[in-house]
Amino acid sequence: MKAPRLLNVRAAVCHGVGEPLRLETVQLAPPAADEVLIEIKASGLCHSDYHQMTGVSTPYPFPVILGHEGAGVVAECGAAVETVRPGDHVVPLSIGECGHCRNCRSGKTNLCLEFFAGMQAPPRRFSIDGRPVAAYANNGTFASFIVMKERNVARIRRDVAFDLACTIGCAVATGVGAVLYTARVERNASVAVFGLGGIGLNVVQGARHAGATMIIGIDVNPAREVLARRFGATHFINPQQQSGNVVEHLRALTGGGVDYSFECVGSTQLMFQALECTRAGWGVCTALGVPPDGERLPILPFDLQLGRTLKGSFLGNVKTRSQLPGLLDLYADGELNLADLVTHRLPLERINEGFDLLREGRSVRTVVTF
Ligand SMILES: [Zn+2]
Ligand SMILES: [Zn+2]
Repeated sequence: MKAPRLLNVRAAVCHGVGEPLRLETVQLAPPAADEVLIEIKASGLCHSDYHQMTGVSTPYPFPVILGHEGAGVVAECGAAVETVRPGDHVVPLSIGECGHCRNCRSGKTNLCLEFFAGMQAPPRRFSIDGRPVAAYANNGTFASFIVMKERNVARIRRDVAFDLACTIGCAVATGVGAVLYTARVERNASVAVFGLGGIGLNVVQGARHAGATMIIGIDVNPAREVLARRFGATHFINPQQQSGNVVEHLRALTGGGVDYSFECVGSTQLMFQALECTRAGWGVCTALGVPPDGERLPILPFDLQLGRTLKGSFLGNVKTRSQLPGLLDLYADGELNLADLVTHRLPLERINEGFDLLREGRSVRTVVTF
């Protein structure tokens, strides 16, 4: 059997904890029969990528090509691919949607069973001089081309620019999806959002879209207040400028506790507060942030026995092929604001500057373009 021809692609590679990304040429295996070659046009920088770089949470071995919030164009399809074709605009996703496994058919979850199989045995498509290179979230969208299974590719509308469209692949799906498909916030609800970064601001605008009347943003960065209000927040709390306990303050503000809360930082201490500030009887807390590896969440069983619910979701529980592209329809209808989400754009060559902005809290989303 002859060895498959490898493609030479440009990628920002992370070789170890604490190291800046290095731009280099890597080799990519061509698409198999059920796979798609995608030319990446834009990719957002996410805290999860940063956590891998800094060693806070390292689900993938080094060296690794980070990036899991990309958008691009289908360049080539394997022989068995039926649902996308060259030229289609697409978003690649770590969670696929095969459409026929037990989970896909359940109507309850976006976690296609193939996703778990992919976690057990991640594909190794990238290499440098024959040495394997991992791809974050099995994506690796800081590469100019990637290969994905057809079921992990969502076709999107063509009239949204790639540098905005890419955000639905992580931040928008996680935040807006958590409101619509995880917590299922209803009209007139009260909502508290802990952490107003890329995820939290999307929870805020998802809550506005759902018709929540009281949307309380909580962040220690005072600069986030203006932004949060632009996305729909009706109240802002800075815990560092607040005398007393945030939970008590939220209970007082809402006459007993919020209907829904969302933790978008990845702090187990904040998750505890987010649960406690929900209303006894029916409050729902959704944990979205990714805590450091190994952390446990301390909760009081009595908080749950008082009728509260604690939930979590991956990519907001949005089904990635059948529901995710609809998020761009909401943007086109003026229901979602993506323009203010993408605060910085940089060429791939300057990606490390983007992570500086992220670390300093000066960006909401930085998108690198190719
Ligand atoms: Zn992400
Ligand atoms: Zn499935």
